[in-house]
Amino acid sequence: MLLGTGGGPRPRTASSAAAQVIVSNEVAYVIDCGDGVARQLAFAGVPLTTLRHIFITHQHSDHNADYGNLIGLAWAAGLRTRVDAWGPPPLARMTKLFFEMNKYDIDTRIANEGRVPIVPLVHVHERRAGGVVMSDDNVTVTSTLVDHPPVVPAFAYRFDAGDRSIVVSGDTAPSQNLVKLARGADVLVHSVMYPPAIDRLVARVPNAAALKASILAHQTSAEDAGRIAQEAGVRTLVLSHFVPPDDPEVTDAVWLEAARRHFTGPVIVGRDLLEV
Ligand SMILES: [Zn+2]
Repeated sequence: MLLGTGGGPRPRTASSAAAQVIVSNEVAYVIDCGDGVARQLAFAGVPLTTLRHIFITHQHSDHNADYGNLIGLAWAAGLRTRVDAWGPPPLARMTKLFFEMNKYDIDTRIANEGRVPIVPLVHVHERRAGGVVMSDDNVTVTSTLVDHPPVVPAFAYRFDAGDRSIVVSGDTAPSQNLVKLARGADVLVHSVMYPPAIDRLVARVPNAAALKASILAHQTSAEDAGRIAQEAGVRTLVLSHFVPPDDPEVTDAVWLEAARRHFTGPVIVGRDLLEV
């Protein structure tokens, strides 16, 4: 399920920030933790107590702003079981500092509400290279490095379950590593931009020139996402992490037309809370 489909950290009414959840046998695997991820899970009807694994693609605030909050709020909602978090450094330090920052609330709730200690529940695994991330009864997760200069490392993740294989690109320029990771997958969720609209997007902010160069260097156009999906031979392409996220001139039809130029399979224009 797509929880947030807008690209960039600026809060918007149109869409929430990057986050996805895969649910298998009532176990929740969350990929990225943009602003509002815990509330989006509530809207999605996924109990926060089923949170088991968190995967961060890269350390940018539109993907990690609510990383700590997701854990803290799930715990406040009754989570008493282990959570493993996987992602690039400094994930361990971010986790430690989150607990430190929220020590007052945590200690109060343990003393006052009988909560279990939160710190021992959370196991952090910093990853610097691609490969097999983890495997359990439901799913095997593999990752690869993608191209998101200057944010290094940045990962895409692949989830192979019994009945489904799903790849989430994270943010990346067109990536051959991603093509390899996604080969033959049922679903590829790819971040996309629409280059003709980037000038209008950056015109709204003060650091326009630098922002434009950054976006163009680390995002993939919807047309190229279609090319990559075709090359990887995926069954369905899901467009998400839209840049720009809220330009009325860039309609669903525009995204579809671009992605279909090179991809012959079904294309889905992502929406918050859409179940694929
Ligand atoms: Zn992003």
